[in-house]
Amino acid sequence: MPEYAALDLETTGLDPARDRVIEIGAVAFTSDRVTSTLERLVDPGRPVPDTVLRLTGIKQDELRGATNPDAALHLLADFLRGRQPVGHGARLDVEFLEAAGLWDPSQEILDTLDLARILLPAALSHSLPLLSTEMGISQPRPHRALDDADATRQLLLRLREEAVALDEGLKESMLALVAPYPWPVAQFFADALTASNPNPGPDTAVSVEPARRGKAADPPPDDPTAVAGLLGPEGPLANLLPGYEHRESQMQMLLAVAQIQARGGTLVVEAGTGTGKSLAYLVPSIARSVRHRERVVVSTNTHTLQEQLMNKDLPALREWLPWDFKAVLLKGRSNYVSLRRWRRYLAEPCRDAEDLMFKLKVLIWLHTTESGDRSELRLHGREEVFWNRVASDPMDCVGVHCTREDCYVHRARAEAETADVVVVNHSLLLADAEVGGGLLPEYDHLVIDEAHHLEDAATRGLRQEVDGPGLLALLERLGHGLLGALQRQPHLGASDDAFGDAVPQAIAAAERVRELFRVADEWVAARLGEAERREESVRITPGLREEKGWGAIRQSAENTTTALTALDMRRTRESARWK
Ligand code: SF4
Repeated sequence: MPEYAALDLETTGLDPARDRVIEIGAVAFTSDRVTSTLERLVDPGRPVPDTVLRLTGIKQDELRGATNPDAALHLLADFLRGRQPVGHGARLDVEFLEAAGLWDPSQEILDTLDLARILLPAALSHSLPLLSTEMGISQPRPHRALDDADATRQLLLRLREEAVALDEGLKESMLALVAPYPWPVAQFFADALTASNPNPGPDTAVSVEPARRGKAADPPPDDPTAVAGLLGPEGPLANLLPGYEHRESQMQMLLAVAQIQARGGTLVVEAGTGTGKSLAYLVPSIARSVRHRERVVVSTNTHTLQEQLMNKDLPALREWLPWDFKAVLLKGRSNYVSLRRWRRYLAEPCRDAEDLMFKLKVLIWLHTTESGDRSELRLHGREEVFWNRVASDPMDCVGVHCTREDCYVHRARAEAETADVVVVNHSLLLADAEVGGGLLPEYDHLVIDEAHHLEDAATRGLRQEVDGPGLLALLERLGHGLLGALQRQPHLGASDDAFGDAVPQAIAAAERVRELFRVADEWVAARLGEAERREESVRITPGLREEKGWGAIRQSAENTTTALTALDMRRTRESARWK
């Protein structure tokens, strides 16, 4: 392990151009000892904001006459020389040194925040104080420079232990990944992954199913009143539910849900806050599903409600109800990693350290995840962009060539096909309806919770948007310049004819688009005032299609479609010739 130098600065604010350093701290160390420390209070030559004084516990008086900022930062720069700098969320510390002209641009800091996100993706927070508490790291004076630097030192060593303890097969894959790169994060893993592991564990991850208590052999009751009685004051759940209270509105809703599920039909319930509506639909749904093998889909709008159902209500009911049942959460496919896309992406060279860190994080995660669900990764910043490279994508899916074992999307759907209750969100429910089924397993009953959001979700999820001004600008660019420029590039191999025809086609299409949006604009203006148009929209109903003026819009839309299709056919033909 090389010699590291963990550093931390306390400052008057977050802007290196305006704010001043008030304290520096640094700890030099190797794997087994601290080799040197540095701590200085710094006189910023101005009053320090109260919030900073309160946060750090430093007193204004202590700073008067302390080391001057320039000298302090020079001391720190000298301390770092020849050592690998380390910080936690250290971008700002580096910026202060850069602003003082004391950061060697060839030097890169190793950030324990990045390492923690790679090695501990499930941690509730990756902030230094919370990680320190969680991992038992000593930090007697949080937000003092030397203490934070020392906590960073301890954290780095703990993270190194985490890396050393990884599965040997996984370590080999990670080593192959980091080997070509000079970045500090690659060097950290190259060192840690080749260190000897004092406590080698089993090579494969073992998942332990929580023990389930024995359940009664009797099936759930069939009679809706008896189902409602499960949650009644005399029912079995009354003694088991912590803080149980009899709520008449909850009982009414539960009975109504049980009745409608028994006889079929549609039920609309408006349940106020505090009704306990999730239990009022989950209890009869589970009873129905278990007794009659009829699957229930529960659709929610918000992630919060999904979490509540999956992490609180359903586990509690699994514990309290006298029958076993299976409930799963099914998400849209882009939430799941595609192993085929991942392998392709993994084989590509990393463009930068962030790319490498994302790959390391996913490699470690894939070793243990059972769901392949991105929510376990807690993605942030550019990781969202990287995720698009590995997420399951219907446009890049060779479903039949991938096995169930190989594909998390297949696995999630297979799980849903054997579940009694499947929890989804409105977007997936609507997408399934749009394509005529196939995204969700067959189901017998549907519960739409947070149904007041369904219309918005449908508008959001099922709409197709055409941006008139944007389309017009694109066509005008094509017709008045871009196609001409292409024509002047004979090495592209396109014939003169191709562009000779395409230019007037693009200009004609632009005219059609302009006309369509002019006619549509007038039609909307005749129905909404100027002020309303900023807030509202016109829903095109069958009745409105009968009204005067709609025929002109339709005719104009057909003309536009014809012009755009002609241009697109020309483009397709020419692209085929260029290949
Ligand atoms: S079936 Fe599609 S989503 Fe699944 S691994 Fe294969 S390519 Fe990826």
